[in-house]
Amino acid sequence: MSNVKKALAALKNCIGRLKSANIELNHAFLALRLSDQTYLAAVPVMHSDCYDHHHFKVLNLAGLLTCNKLAHAIFLANSKTNAVILTHSRFCSQAAENGMDIPAVLDDMAQIIGLTIKICDIGDQQKINQLLKSSRGCLLKSPDTAKQGAVAVGKNLGEAFIVTLLMEKAAQVYLQANLLGGAKILSPIESQVMHLGYELAYSKLSGSVSHQTAADFPRPISAHELDLRGQLVDLGQSLARENLVQGTWGNISIRLDVQHMLCTPSGIDYATLTPYDMVRVAIDTLKYEGRIKPTGEKALHAALYLNHPEVHCIIHTHPVHCSVFAAAHKKIKPTDPVLRECLGGDVAVARYAFPTSKQLSKNVVKAIKDNRACVMENHGMVVCGSTLEDAHAKCLAAENSARIILEQISQKQPMTAPKPTVINKGVKHMPHFKKICKQIRVLSPRITVTEERGCIVLRGEVDDWATVVKAGQLAVDKKNYLGVINDVRLTDFVQQRQTPTVEDRSLNGEKPDVLIIGGGIVGCAIARELSRYNLDILLVEKKSDVALGATGANGGVVHVGVNFSKKSQKYRYNLRGNRIYEALSKQLSVPFEQQGQVMLCVKNWERILVWILKLKARTMGIPGVKYLKREALLQHEPHLPGFVVGGMYMPTGGITNPFEMAIALAENAIQNKARISLSTIVTGMETRDGHVTQVATNRGRLYPKLVINAAGVYADEIAELGGDRTFTIHPRRGTDIITDKNAGYMVGSSMGISPFAILPQQLSTLPKNPLKRMINGFAGTSHTKGVGLIHSIHGNMLIGPNAIETPDREDTATHYDEVNGILAMQQQIATELKPSDVIAYFTGVRAATYEEDFVVRKGIFTDNIIHAGGIQSPGVTAAPAIAAEIAEWSVQMLSHTMNVAANPDFDPVRKPRHRLNSLDDSQRNALIRANPDYGIIVCRCEEISKGEIIDALNACLSVPTLDGIKRRLRPGMGRCQGGFCAPLVAGIIAEHFKIPLSAVKKSSENSVILYRQTKGVAL
Ligand SMILES: Cc1cc2nc3c(=O)[nH]c(=O)nc-3n(C[C@H](O)[C@H](O)[C@H](O)COP(=O)(O)OP(=O)(O)OC[C@H]3O[C@@H](n4cnc5c(N)ncnc54)[C@H](O)[C@@H]3O)c2cc1C
Repeated sequence: MSNVKKALAALKNCIGRLKSANIELNHAFLALRLSDQTYLAAVPVMHSDCYDHHHFKVLNLAGLLTCNKLAHAIFLANSKTNAVILTHSRFCSQAAENGMDIPAVLDDMAQIIGLTIKICDIGDQQKINQLLKSSRGCLLKSPDTAKQGAVAVGKNLGEAFIVTLLMEKAAQVYLQANLLGGAKILSPIESQVMHLGYELAYSKLSGSVSHQTAADFPRPISAHELDLRGQLVDLGQSLARENLVQGTWGNISIRLDVQHMLCTPSGIDYATLTPYDMVRVAIDTLKYEGRIKPTGEKALHAALYLNHPEVHCIIHTHPVHCSVFAAAHKKIKPTDPVLRECLGGDVAVARYAFPTSKQLSKNVVKAIKDNRACVMENHGMVVCGSTLEDAHAKCLAAENSARIILEQISQKQPMTAPKPTVINKGVKHMPHFKKICKQIRVLSPRITVTEERGCIVLRGEVDDWATVVKAGQLAVDKKNYLGVINDVRLTDFVQQRQTPTVEDRSLNGEKPDVLIIGGGIVGCAIARELSRYNLDILLVEKKSDVALGATGANGGVVHVGVNFSKKSQKYRYNLRGNRIYEALSKQLSVPFEQQGQVMLCVKNWERILVWILKLKARTMGIPGVKYLKREALLQHEPHLPGFVVGGMYMPTGGITNPFEMAIALAENAIQNKARISLSTIVTGMETRDGHVTQVATNRGRLYPKLVINAAGVYADEIAELGGDRTFTIHPRRGTDIITDKNAGYMVGSSMGISPFAILPQQLSTLPKNPLKRMINGFAGTSHTKGVGLIHSIHGNMLIGPNAIETPDREDTATHYDEVNGILAMQQQIATELKPSDVIAYFTGVRAATYEEDFVVRKGIFTDNIIHAGGIQSPGVTAAPAIAAEIAEWSVQMLSHTMNVAANPDFDPVRKPRHRLNSLDDSQRNALIRANPDYGIIVCRCEEISKGEIIDALNACLSVPTLDGIKRRLRPGMGRCQGGFCAPLVAGIIAEHFKIPLSAVKKSSENSVILYRQTKGVAL
């Protein structure tokens, strides 16, 4: 079928469904965008039944303008809007006539439309467009009452259709609830949270679902079960036709056997359901079978089955007239005796609770005792039946009873305009808000707690950083809030920022398609992934090189990830990243080794933990995890201390050089036409109507189409600038120690002790009380990956890191006591380790959020921003996977405003460099014959030649400083730490760029090494 034919069928179907939902279509206008120039419209008719083929027209922009000015303006103003429905339906027109906004009185309206359906003058196209940016619909007021009504928009026709239904239902419920004493309005915060939840997750389900078939089931499905599944599909479609449910809302279940029920799935339109989409759920555990998730209200269904063995079918609907009672918090007392008998008496009221919450199940169970139906406050209806037919009949009986009662009352008392809103006090805050407030008041009365835009916000000032961090931790409630915004200040602390000294206009007026902020491993990986497309990509990094944030100061372990929660973003991206690393390293010529990870056990009973982790690994898709007894473990780690009884071996652990990887990603991105601007800091952003319009930097103003926030420890500040902050970074520093390569033999993988194990040194410092001792023992390991000793990719041993909370986001100082502490602790495992083996130490700062998870997401309040925030460990491992997903989102988002095609010249392979220390003698000789510079060894510790340094100076991301060369080739990273090679490298840079030696810098513009020449440098 051609696109036009498909669109025409969809439009006709939509008109049919609107008609059956009693939405009047006289003078309505429906239009669909086929392309930016072509639209399919159903032009206005006198009466809903009048549509024939003359009324469907393919129009160009001029034609659309002639047909309907408002629809034309809406399509032009918002590229994401692909469907517009203008109606003059009864209740929306009446609400418009009253001149009042409609507040959220029902969950479904709050979720799909938001806090309020606003009213706007039909002639004020600019205001209508503005309203439609933050909402999917609004009421239209006009002096000509025939023109009053509503407009609904959507990214597709289905979405605009649902919004039309819900607006009419919301208007009817709000107006008619007045007959019952008035509607109780949902709390604005709660409505906002529901709306955000819908926008972020639920709205995406329907489009992304792939239906199940018989092949998806590992067990045979009996004819009886298949029949029940089919009956559920038919019933769902009947309920949709009868307007008892709208869109994907509502749900049905049927008891399959003693242990199981069959439920409708979550987020799939009833019109598209198949019998195999029904989900079998265990009534007592709620575990479900198959790929497709069951309804979010499964707990409610299960609770009713457990309490009422005689119930065999449960239907949860959102019928219009019952919803009037739900909004007014009133019982339905059927006046018609037949309906009353069918329902078994009055329809009770279940107290309000958040949809899908345990509390809602409890409230419904409490409301349904001898009766068989209840209204759920501000939500909908639940009925229980002995059979499917019985439950269906009860649904219809409840809706008819509600309709009859409302008709009877309205005959006695005319419907008046609703009074201004009465906030429902019982649902003012999220359930845990009071608890959080109480705990934080106990911690410090100087901290205030509020709920803002779906987040918990802390403000105030205290004298110690530990209190700030503790308050943030106490405020975490991942279930109910988007995140913690902790703006509590620390008295007398001012963040000192490293900022570039350069100020110029070199980027002023640039309009990149994508602006990436931050040149750590995440930003560089995103730039490379995006360079697969024909996009203008600009990465800005405030420092003088890439990989100078956390990416330049970490252990380089490519983690296995068995310790992460399966619900976390860390787990998802780590798993995918780990799988990508080997191939990616080959493409970019970056050293990588899958040397495994080992968790050591000190007592035999710790095997229990290994056993649990092994099972977990299996469910996570991590292969090869096993327990090895001491003898077997010695094959991998021959230098284990005597007290180790065995350990968990995880073969998929790897090791890389993180800054080499970031540089390689950046170079490959540049090779594929991305641009990188170093010493460029983002200092501000201008946003309008939830859209970043300008970005201020020290090199001028930029006008990007899309902004990607990969700013490490400053990611929350960038999110704030972009008007889209829902998280806070609390910096956590970690120090690592590097040993000489001579000590590298002591460990072959990345190795740490199990979190249960207590080493002799720890034992002496722990409290005597066994319980406290256990708690303290765990506390030390809670926020690190538990790695203690790492065999680095270059053969040294890395020891650490520790984890210390700090207010300073750039606190990379190392402390004598900490280094000694780390060393002493790890000497218990690496028993041959001596202080003289240590050649250097460094500190990196982790960008931890209070939720202790990554924040990788599209903007919530801003439509052209994507965040890669909170990327603490395992950020090195996860970076390639984060980048792949963000690139996908970027392409989707940009495709609304431009044509994004593949970059035909994309080459994933970075040109390999000569590495003298990895060549055999004959290869070295051949290279030196071709270019004698490769024969001049500059760094003896790491065997680096002058030729390689010149190659690095000629590379596409050349950073001609001592540290720039050190990060690319390692001169200065060996035993002598640059004592021998630093002057030689400086001389090569000066000679290559024909600059005085004193102009060569260590790293940034200000890091002068030499002030004047005292004697010649011989090369
Ligand atoms: C001690 C330690 C050990 C670790 N060990 C491991 C490990 O073994 N394995 C692992 O997988 N992970 C590990 N990690 C975590 C890993 O290092 C990080 O998750 C990762 O490097 C984060 O990369 P990033 O690009 O998000 O941040 P960064 O590397 O910090 O990059 C962010 C960049 O943004 C720039 N920036 C900030 N603000 C602005 C602005 N306004 N304008 C322009 N630029 C800006 C910064 O200068 C910085 O370069 C460790 C971390 C630490 C601290």
